[in-house]
Amino acid sequence: MSVLPIRVLGDPVLRQETLPVAAVTDDIRRLIDDMFETMYAAQGIGLAAPQVGRTERLCVVDVDGAVYALVNPEVVLAEGPKEKAEEGCLSIPDVYGDVERPSRVTVRGLDRNGQPVEVTADGLLGRCLQHEIDHLHGKLFIDYLSFLKRRSALAKWDEEKDQYPEFIRHIKPGARASEHPEEEL
Ligand code: ZN
Repeated sequence: MSVLPIRVLGDPVLRQETLPVAAVTDDIRRLIDDMFETMYAAQGIGLAAPQVGRTERLCVVDVDGAVYALVNPEVVLAEGPKEKAEEGCLSIPDVYGDVERPSRVTVRGLDRNGQPVEVTADGLLGRCLQHEIDHLHGKLFIDYLSFLKRRSALAKWDEEKDQYPEFIRHIKPGARASEHPEEEL
């Protein structure tokens, strides 16, 4: 397994629509393994394929031991009152913002063996699933912020982005302790 470089805000791959995975092959399973390795090295709780420069529609999450690799995931049901909570993103390091989302979602997709899987989740897992599935459609958490909050998030990013030439963030395992490790998706 390998830790892959993470693409940061500004890389066009983060704004592209992904392509559905036609079959869950060994190559896809290798990508899933590398994405878990990368997510753990970066101390994140979720990671979507575009964040490692790939266009396959898949993501991985590990929220308090609830571990899923989801191929072609889609939200089939969103319910409950909207809830607001702070989010961050491995592709926009050191930038955080409050995002309002449905409190409970049901997601369907395929697992690493190509078998159908359905997950219903609320709380942090439900939020993480929505954040990762957004990535698969070129959407980022900053898109939800109000005009003023988005402007200040982007100003903060402006100060950070020079650390990531070519929009690439190299992860050194254990080298960086996030300020908000539970919120990096
Ligand atoms: Zn993210």
